[in-house]
Amino acid sequence: MNFLKRILNINNSIDSTLTITSSNGFHLRPIAQFVNEAKKYNANISLLAKGKEVSATQVPKILSLSLEKGETFTLICQGKEAQKANSELSDFFNKLMANDTEVKAIIQVSEIYEAETLKGESIARGIGIAPVVHAEIVERIEENSPVTLRDAIQKTKTELSAQYEQNMEQETSQIFLAQKELLSSNLFETNFSNIEEFQNVIQEETKKLQNSKFASRIADYQDLEQKVLKHVGIHKELHLPVFPYILIAKELLPSHIEQLGKTPVKGVVLQSGNSTSHAAILLRSAAIPSLIIHEEVTSSKNAILDANSGDFILNPSKEDLKKATQKQKEFMELLDQSFEKRFENTQTQDGTNIKVLANITDIGSAKEAKESGADGIGLLRTEFLFTEKKPTLNEQTNAYEDIFKLFNEVTVRTLDIGGDKSLPYINIAKENNPFLGIRGIRFSLQEQTLFKEQLLAIGLASANTPSTKIKIMFPMISNTEEFIEAKEIAQNVYKKHNISTENIEFGIMLEVPSVIFSLSEFDKLVDFYSIGSNDLTQYLFAIERTHPTLNVSSNSPELLNALKYIKEQSKKPISICGELAGIEIATQQLITMNYETLSVSSKLIPSLKECIRNI
Ligand code: PEP
Ligand code: MG
Repeated sequence: MNFLKRILNINNSIDSTLTITSSNGFHLRPIAQFVNEAKKYNANISLLAKGKEVSATQVPKILSLSLEKGETFTLICQGKEAQKANSELSDFFNKLMANDTEVKAIIQVSEIYEAETLKGESIARGIGIAPVVHAEIVERIEENSPVTLRDAIQKTKTELSAQYEQNMEQETSQIFLAQKELLSSNLFETNFSNIEEFQNVIQEETKKLQNSKFASRIADYQDLEQKVLKHVGIHKELHLPVFPYILIAKELLPSHIEQLGKTPVKGVVLQSGNSTSHAAILLRSAAIPSLIIHEEVTSSKNAILDANSGDFILNPSKEDLKKATQKQKEFMELLDQSFEKRFENTQTQDGTNIKVLANITDIGSAKEAKESGADGIGLLRTEFLFTEKKPTLNEQTNAYEDIFKLFNEVTVRTLDIGGDKSLPYINIAKENNPFLGIRGIRFSLQEQTLFKEQLLAIGLASANTPSTKIKIMFPMISNTEEFIEAKEIAQNVYKKHNISTENIEFGIMLEVPSVIFSLSEFDKLVDFYSIGSNDLTQYLFAIERTHPTLNVSSNSPELLNALKYIKEQSKKPISICGELAGIEIATQQLITMNYETLSVSSKLIPSLKECIRNI
């Protein structure tokens, strides 16, 4: 019935269709953030997918839709704030997807050890040397706990909210928010008459998740169960030694990692799960060397866990211990160095200076870039600056100025919407293939009022920050005429408003293959290029960048040959700002091709700089 009403739109709702673009799918952490946001509106909000309509405030319901990359859902908003909720939440969702980066597998560097060695998947880098201890859970019951189950649930929610607030700057905060939102769903609003009823609900939910893509979320339910029961006096905790040890565990719950952090743990071997589980994220954030090994592990008086090579060595020889101790020392020094040296210049072994810039979206990420040691901004994705409503000229100018003030060099990309990026205040007619339609500069040249206003704001901010070099970059340029027209519009705007262009350069994103075949013509026009390897790869290989199963390896000879050709043919400065620039296995090759400017996400800057220093 609801479904029929929906088709006929009897409820007068505001709908929009949203696509899952993250290869992780619409998983627990972004769902929790979405739900947390959806609760702020005075509107009835739901998601419709796979023939099922579920409330946008219920995490378990959304999780049960099992939405994977490439799938879509309809966001349905009704009520007083329907319009506002729909446009702001659509935007919030797109931002969540854009920021939900894939967990990159740790690249293992092989090592030779003499003693018996088990191979594993690395979760968190590092080397630990200590005796092996198997995880053991001990139960402790306090008699006559005065706390009711209802109060225990409430106390757990309060604790999780506090942990979320305290860790706001870190990725791990999302785990606490996710658990809080799970516990806030109406599944747990019942007045449970005993503990078994509560445990039955948990069991039912975990059963639904078994064998699904989101099976690793079962651990979050189990963790919540333990957290709530602790408040009614039932403690289930890991029994951990007080001496250094390497822990072997079938699985660990997020709260166990907190417990480990308070002991002299030297490493962890998990015997199930994967590197995207919440336990794995927390192990990485706690910097505990860890591996996943599915084989049985016997006890051993001494062992080496080398997560850098993926080896677990039982009863190591004297030579093995000597080697591992030396590696451990060097690794610790490297970690210290890369962070300590993040503000220093980056030179390869042969003395070539490499600039490592940051890709950012707003003032928050600009500050993060500064703190991470970015040598400047290589890509300011302006479409994420104002995601809710169209900004005024003043608002835009102030936002740019705040960012420009922080750096000596900022590359500002003019609005790049269409394809996988949308804005609630901009209408682009529905297209059959939006990646090949009105995108980037094509939109700006059609909607010149918006374009001119953005250019003016950039110019005004640049006039107030004369010591910063501003590089205005046009996205999705496919021929020289587009660049000429865009630059001319900018220059006319600046002339009309008496804005000096002395510290402004004009360049393009090199992301449409047609440009490769006209580099000599472009060289006469542009001041610089920045290669958008995400889109360039998409258009070179005819593989949509958000495709759920198809992808192109960063080692692909076709891709690397194209990059080599571009660098050899063009005489103008070229940087790379797509994802490829931050993938360490590609770094050596890019530097060999003479690329000297890379722009990456801030998190990657200290280690990428250190990697370059060793090339
Ligand atoms: C790219 O296409 O590689 C790029 C950096 O831009 P975006 O990912 O924003 O399209
Ligand atoms: Mg692009």
